Amino acid sequence: MTTHSGPLDLTARLADADPEIAALVEAEGRRQFEKIRLIPSENYVSRAVLEATGTVLTNKYSEGYARKRYYEGQQFIDEVEELAVARAKALFGVEHVNVQPYSGSPANLAIYLAFLQPGDTFLSLELPHGGHLTHGSPVSATGTWFRPVHYGVDKETGRIDMDQVRDIARRERPKLIFCGGTAIPRLIDFPAFAEIAQEVGALLVADIAHIAGLVAGGAHPSPVGYAPVISTTTHKTLRGPRGAMLMTDAEHAKAIDKAVFPGLQGGPHNHTTAAIAVALREAATEEFRRYAHQIVANAAALAEALLERGFDLVSGGTDNHLILIDLTNKDIGGKPAAKALDRAGLEVNFNTVPFDPRKPWSPSGIRIGTPAVTTRGMTTEHMPRIAAWIDEAVEAARKDDGEALDRIAAEVREFTKDFPIPGWPTP
Ligand SMILES: *Cc1c(COP(=O)(O)O)cnc(C)c1O
Repeated sequence: MTTHSGPLDLTARLADADPEIAALVEAEGRRQFEKIRLIPSENYVSRAVLEATGTVLTNKYSEGYARKRYYEGQQFIDEVEELAVARAKALFGVEHVNVQPYSGSPANLAIYLAFLQPGDTFLSLELPHGGHLTHGSPVSATGTWFRPVHYGVDKETGRIDMDQVRDIARRERPKLIFCGGTAIPRLIDFPAFAEIAQEVGALLVADIAHIAGLVAGGAHPSPVGYAPVISTTTHKTLRGPRGAMLMTDAEHAKAIDKAVFPGLQGGPHNHTTAAIAVALREAATEEFRRYAHQIVANAAALAEALLERGFDLVSGGTDNHLILIDLTNKDIGGKPAAKALDRAGLEVNFNTVPFDPRKPWSPSGIRIGTPAVTTRGMTTEHMPRIAAWIDEAVEAARKDDGEALDRIAAEVREFTKDFPIPGWPTP
């Protein structure tokens, strides 16, 4: 098959063409197989989604939108994008979808470009209370180019304080209100946000990056009909490739499309669009609905088991896929705990907790979730075991007991053998 040879044989497969990268991909696959991955924004995509991302669609430029492109040769790309859009519209019940944003952050930037002028006021959840960088953090362009004002959670309940949201909205008259975030363990009250937005004449945006799969599977209320603009990533609970979508009503469609292209981006990543379409097809199945509900059941079971072991959970528990643990009463910071847990085969991330007295780079909490373990087929019966390992590892970290962490990692490796992942051979 090879027609030429030389130091760089471009017809070779990855393992031959670039053994260094191939070895790293292999090592990462093994790592994903051998660990219990609890980072709530991560998942395992299906074999079909993996395949779609590795196709010749990556070769094609297609600036513009289907039937209105700036390059020729779109006979098949247009159909790919139209399928992705049609599936998203049907799955979420929205009037318009843009599947081109490169990821969640650029998708959110497009929202600012579409609806705000520099310096305009908008309202969002404060980052240390569970918001996202792109919701106006001072270190984000969204925080320096616009004027963010923030709501937070109630100190007692750990839940978003809707009275505070209303008070700030009345006082500040924001042009836009974001609901949603990255570390919210409870349901988002879309109707309540919509009422406040309506009262103050603000555009309500729901950022459902974390919970899109739960919404699609009927395991979390939908923002459709309440938020005219909805932003989501495609790679978290929705279990697609790394990417994003913006969903709107008819009224806001044109402004969003113009903001994504040509406002912010050039050619869409067509291989990603294809993989998004595949993921959306999967998400429309009965099996995915069961998956979404299992994620929530697993998180509830994990939360209960952690509470029994004396862990302090922000808001006292969870309604969704995510659990935020305040480790203050365990006498260890989030960062050393996360590092120790990783050594023990339990992958989590350190995270601020609301009213965190420590700094974001070394905060008080860790954030965990169940989307990835649920994809692997773990159920509520496995959650007490995971909670026990977390407890043991945190205790070992406190005592600086590396041997105990390695012992847990070995147990975890043994345990995960029974839970296959797509794209990695089960031993
Ligand atoms: C993950 C996330 C994003 C950003 O997504 P990236 O793909 O990492 O840019 C935006 N908003 C929320 C609420 C998120 O959770």
